[in-house]
Amino acid sequence: MRTIGVLTSGGDAPGMNAAIRAVVRTGIANGLRVMGIQRGYSGLMNGEIFEMTRSSVSDIIQRGGTILKSARSAEFRTPEGRKKAYNVLKVFGIEGLVVIGGDGSFTGAKLLSDEWDIKTVGIPGTIDNDLAYTDYTIGFDTAVNTVLDAINKLRDTSTSHERVSVVEVMGRHCGDIALYAGLAGGAESIIIPEEDYNFDELCKTIIEGKVKGKLHNLILLAEGIGGAEELAKKIEEVTGIESRATVLGHIQRGGSPTAFDRILASRLGARAVELLLEGKSKRVVGIRDNKIVDFDITEALEMEKRRDDHKKLYELSKILGY
Ligand code: ATP
Repeated sequence: MRTIGVLTSGGDAPGMNAAIRAVVRTGIANGLRVMGIQRGYSGLMNGEIFEMTRSSVSDIIQRGGTILKSARSAEFRTPEGRKKAYNVLKVFGIEGLVVIGGDGSFTGAKLLSDEWDIKTVGIPGTIDNDLAYTDYTIGFDTAVNTVLDAINKLRDTSTSHERVSVVEVMGRHCGDIALYAGLAGGAESIIIPEEDYNFDELCKTIIEGKVKGKLHNLILLAEGIGGAEELAKKIEEVTGIESRATVLGHIQRGGSPTAFDRILASRLGARAVELLLEGKSKRVVGIRDNKIVDFDITEALEMEKRRDDHKKLYELSKILGY
């Protein structure tokens, strides 16, 4: 293998730049030409490709977003779109492709390798932490810390006004951002798609908290359940305690990556290039029990999330937040 390409696809995540940097510099250190592909699969089909050097990735490890830009492409979902992409890859002499993104991007990479002679490796870049095969995705830790910062501020004002504060966070169908930020932020209640919750019990806990002298009540709500405004309104109606909703939104996708995300991205980026150098294809890299691992893409996407630790964290949050 002489030339590889790297792209970022789907929703952006802090730490993607650190991953790009690791791919470029590991590639160059191993004698490869590394091509940067802009705007994900869309830019790939349009030939938005340039050669990267060590200095193309200078001064980006600390930056959120992605210097390669990200996009979603409906055309790439079609065999014709992927044929177009392959033809462009051929023109640029790209034999291996590193795809930084989520499950949709990985599926696209797998199909490209199934249909054409191009090797692909996926790196998990999404704040949602919704890929079962890896304990953490790049960007998750930074998003949790962003939420934590917001919670700390909301706690101040909720305490002053003795209010209930419902905070809706991202994560799509995965409650990890709500769970981790809730535990770290000392939330009274955490509502996530993976665990049942009972509205009457929630209100009872809020009223009991008030009677015990709690000055505020912080509820973390995962977007998979959604409706923070509606929930706050219902809580106020039932408990008589003033309740406010905050939807954090896209702020969670930005910001300088944490040390954890930068280190994870550096390790995964380097491993992805090593796999291509070993001639591997249709693999994804991840971290399990602090060890860098890799799996077949299909196998990885079919895995179920390891729930034991998750359940323990949830139970712990209930005991500590009560
Ligand atoms: P995030 O988790 O941040 O949303 P993602 O990678 O899951 O990231 P998607 O929008 O699902 O984001 O996928 C990104 C791109 O990957 C799509 O726009 C499309 O070009 C390609 N892709 C997704 N699913 C498929 C598929 N089934 N077949 C081919 N290409 C796909």
